[in-house]
Amino acid sequence: NVTVSFLGLGAMGYPMAGHLARKFDTLVWNRTREKAIAHEAEFGSRAVNSVAEAADVDILFTCLPTTADVASLAPEIVSGAREGLVWVDCTSGDPGKSRELAEWLSRRGVELVDAPVSGGTVGAQKGALTVMYGGAEATMEEVRPALEAFAAKVVRVGDVGAGHAVKAINNALLAVNLWSASEGLAALAALGVDVGAALDVINASSGRSNVTENLIPQRVLTREFPATFKLGLLAKDAGLALDVAREAKAPTPLLAMLESLVRAAARDIGPDEDHTALAKLLERWAGAQIK
Ligand code: NDP
Repeated sequence: NVTVSFLGLGAMGYPMAGHLARKFDTLVWNRTREKAIAHEAEFGSRAVNSVAEAADVDILFTCLPTTADVASLAPEIVSGAREGLVWVDCTSGDPGKSRELAEWLSRRGVELVDAPVSGGTVGAQKGALTVMYGGAEATMEEVRPALEAFAAKVVRVGDVGAGHAVKAINNALLAVNLWSASEGLAALAALGVDVGAALDVINASSGRSNVTENLIPQRVLTREFPATFKLGLLAKDAGLALDVAREAKAPTPLLAMLESLVRAAARDIGPDEDHTALAKLLERWAGAQIK
């Protein structure tokens, strides 16, 4: 009987751990304990009091804001780790810092692999996330049944850290699309063009993206901006993408500018607002609302 645990029951972790609890004996831990108690009541997981307790399992999952948050739990995880523990980090994390952490952990008998996810909170609720896996192939096969509890697609992209690198670049592409679509649509709105009609055309044309097809119609045009993925987290990811480029010594002038732009938007609009609320900054600059 494989036992698993999940640490970090945020917007993503809460539903991901819910899917695990339907298939495995699942321990849950959250910094704010109320969420773990609620999870136990909703999904039949078991809320534990300490990180060390949550490490006495076969596979441990984390999904926290940053790799610094993840690393802060490492000493306690090591202290409570069951022999042969595999730690699967689903955070959109830092590739370099994760490689260092993995090395530190391997000397203490714990194997760290990275498995960041895409698909948003809707994908997490449906159990239909995409996992970009970094780590040994044999370990991936070992943890695959657990990953498939919440993922529809699992792809190995390389060794430890590679999953985080791919995720960072994916989210940089999201940010580019969100920023450019917001600029373009705010300009059209300022010109008096009907944005709905413009989107209708763009979404049948070569300028379309997930941003124009889904995010802007569902979140910006409705003025709802539901905070499912925080703007501050997107700014973090834009920074990680730039780190990846810097490590590769690949010139990425657009990504460098993008990081500054998204950080400015997070500062101006608020880091806890939904990432799509970045459009409000471009609207202000253009003097017209995307609606
Ligand atoms: P949330 O802000 O909703 O949740 C963060 C979770 O981390 C909470 O459970 C919080 O605990 C916990 N936490 C924060 N800091 C610490 C710490 N220092 N020690 C222990 N626990 C901590 O974030 P999301 O679930 O949205 O995001 C988590 C990760 O997943 C991020 O890396 C994000 O970039 C990524 N991601 C997010 C997606 C989304 O659509 N939201 C999609 C794909 C990836 P507490 O309850 O106590 O605050």
